[in-house]
Amino acid sequence: QVLARPNLALWVTKDHKIYQKEESFPTCPPDQCIIHVKATGICGSEIHFWKSGRIGDCCVTHDIILGHESSGQVVQVGENVTGFQVGDRVSIEPGVSCWECEQCLRGRYNLCPKVVFSGTPPSDGTMRRFVAHPARFLHKMPDTMTYAVGALIEPLSVAYNAVIRAAPYLGQPVLIAGAGPIGLAMALCARAAGASPICITDLEENRLAQARSMGFEQTLKIDLAWDRLETAKRVREVMGTGCVPSLAFECTGAESSINSACYALEDGGTLLQVGCGKPDITVPLMSLGFREVNIITSFRYRLSWPVVIRLVAAGVFGDVTPLITHTFPIEKTIDAFETCADRSKLAIKVQIVDE
Ligand code: NAD
Ligand code: ZN
Repeated sequence: QVLARPNLALWVTKDHKIYQKEESFPTCPPDQCIIHVKATGICGSEIHFWKSGRIGDCCVTHDIILGHESSGQVVQVGENVTGFQVGDRVSIEPGVSCWECEQCLRGRYNLCPKVVFSGTPPSDGTMRRFVAHPARFLHKMPDTMTYAVGALIEPLSVAYNAVIRAAPYLGQPVLIAGAGPIGLAMALCARAAGASPICITDLEENRLAQARSMGFEQTLKIDLAWDRLETAKRVREVMGTGCVPSLAFECTGAESSINSACYALEDGGTLLQVGCGKPDITVPLMSLGFREVNIITSFRYRLSWPVVIRLVAAGVFGDVTPLITHTFPIEKTIDAFETCADRSKLAIKVQIVDE
């Protein structure tokens, strides 16, 4: 009996420890469903909360349960919930917005000031066997979609939102800086939207090899000894004759990478900042002004789940499973975190699964 299994949860402490502890089975509020979580990806931000205790102003001040990239099966349905039944397979949208404030009412619900985001302080997340989640933020997935892929809808949504914000056009030369899970998801989305050629940069050869195996031939291994102009020149060389990027998706958050992207862009181009770095980053704003370079940002996602599920199911991105390099059973969640944090393990997306 699945429901009798211990509700193992993964906690992070403010003094940089993670531990697993058994929780009681959740009670089901009227507008929520209880999900048996079957797959959860580890996000780089979670390694950060563990190792550094904070991201920007968002601090781990007490023990919380991590996790926000999950899919699973409905095992209990709240009394006010319509449209879901026990057994439904769902992908979980982790940002529960208030649906009452002006941003929510305008549809920009990713900017809701009252959002409760799974696994981000002070809210508990989905890295447990059973979790209650509002039905409004559960999305059914087709029978053909595995739970592993259902848990990739979250990072793909980050990329989808950025693509919607930047709207690349067919044949637009695009630079993607950073080949982590977000950069690679970005590449899949940008390619699906018609961007071509796509140049992907990273510091690590294994990540670029992953990009090439996914069909992105134009990769550049960055040497931090290069200055921004040198890096920009090399990006343009990799893109090929006549192809200067007019759009860059910056997916590292590193100051040097942001600067290089600014110089690699053609005049009038657009930098879409996805990566999160230190709060204050220096860019050559005046020089960008003389070149009419646009800088725009993208934060999480809104209204992405149904579309991204449909696009993945239709094969529009191609095979997304190569993003997942490591899988651990829920009992081995600590090992999963250690693998994710250890660069020598060459992980891209590490997932925790439960049958
Ligand atoms: P990641 O750390 O796995 O990947 C970042 C990659 O950038 C690494 O492979 C690293 O080697 C590479 N890199 C670092 N410095 C570089 C440089 N100077 N030049 C080229 N490559 C460099 O992280 P991820 O999970 O792929 O996430 C990427 C970024 O996106 C993170 O900063 C994350 O916080 C951010 N993010 C933003 C949103 C959003 O809503 N905007 C959502 C999720 C993640
Ligand atoms: Zn709101």
